[in-house]
Amino acid sequence: MKNHIYISKQKSYNLAEIEKTLRLFFEQLNIDLLLSDKHKIIIKPNMLGAHHPDKAVTTHPIILEAVIRILKDFNKDIVVGDSPGGIIKAKQIWNILGYTDICKKYNVELIEFGKSGIVEINSISSNNQAIKFIIDKSVIDCDGIINLPKMKTHSMMLYTGAVKNLYGTIPGLYKSELHKMFPSPNQFTDVLSELYNIIHNKIILNIMDGIIGMDGEGPSAGKPAPFELLMVSQKASSLDYIASKMMGFEIKNLAYLQNALTIDEIDINEDKISGAISIDKEWQDYVIPNVNIKAVNFRNKFLNHIPKIFKKLFKKYFTFYPNFLPSCKLCEVCVKSCPVQALKLSKDKDKIVLNKDKCINCLCCHEMCPYSAINIKKNFISKMIFKDN
Ligand code: SF4
Ligand code: SF4
Repeated sequence: MKNHIYISKQKSYNLAEIEKTLRLFFEQLNIDLLLSDKHKIIIKPNMLGAHHPDKAVTTHPIILEAVIRILKDFNKDIVVGDSPGGIIKAKQIWNILGYTDICKKYNVELIEFGKSGIVEINSISSNNQAIKFIIDKSVIDCDGIINLPKMKTHSMMLYTGAVKNLYGTIPGLYKSELHKMFPSPNQFTDVLSELYNIIHNKIILNIMDGIIGMDGEGPSAGKPAPFELLMVSQKASSLDYIASKMMGFEIKNLAYLQNALTIDEIDINEDKISGAISIDKEWQDYVIPNVNIKAVNFRNKFLNHIPKIFKKLFKKYFTFYPNFLPSCKLCEVCVKSCPVQALKLSKDKDKIVLNKDKCINCLCCHEMCPYSAINIKKNFISKMIFKDN
């Protein structure tokens, strides 16, 4: 059935159970047919940074292992790849995640996107923004992608899942460059939407790791949250629509997902799952209990309530800046990840100093900090306006 979202309750990362569930879903999806004309397949997990799997920042290795075990039955050329954000070496991330051992065990190639070729694609967004994309060549050349996103909140875009996971197909620090060129959430919406437009036809399947997801200040400084969900869909947009709804988000606040649904020609009714998306009855009104989306919703609500002219005139009062916590280890990953060089180590080498005039509020530092030592500072005025947060 087209655009059916397959959902299963999974309480833990048990390889045998996850593999069994996925095999069942794949059978219903006619996986033989989906893979029949595909030879080279890229598995794209979320490898955002050097965080232990228990931190719920990245796709859990057991999900990757289960998918590899199933795909091995089909005798395909399988490659696992991603480009982590920031400056941390991919090998370091693979080791912490356990991906190195898994790929070795099953004789699967593990690659860092961008290291063996790139493709430049120029695009014009629906808002007439010219965007130059640099995308890993193997992604463009492969026969299909199996997308393994993690279900999380996102401080800039509110929610991150299957569509946002594709941003990792852009190699290395060019990701930060795009943040610099398109700093506001509205502009960045165009970047994510256009990228999806370029890649969406490559996607064979999306398998969402929502067993332990993340709420609070995601995508890396939030809290691991037991959503207990494993979800599979052919379309990244419809999967994200359902997953974000279950977390308590409203599609009207997720512009990049609205655009992705349009690209996939999926029609939804905001209050009711309808049109091209189908879902088993038991899940139709399901909302995950106690998901903390306040922290990310607050920023979005605040920025949307302030007229543009005020934002410009009183930038320092209406803007959210990174805030460095005592847990900072002075590793300088944030300094090197900042696309506009707004951060530096203090003269005494005892703290990170922010230049607010340079900061474009892209939150790359917040996303990249391996120690979750950056939160987002709410100023006095914003706290007064939205007391409930
Ligand atoms: S805030 Fe995080 S990334 Fe930046 S120096 Fe401290 S520990 Fe490193
Ligand atoms: S300091 Fe952080 S939020 Fe500001 S521009 Fe640099 S990376 Fe972005």
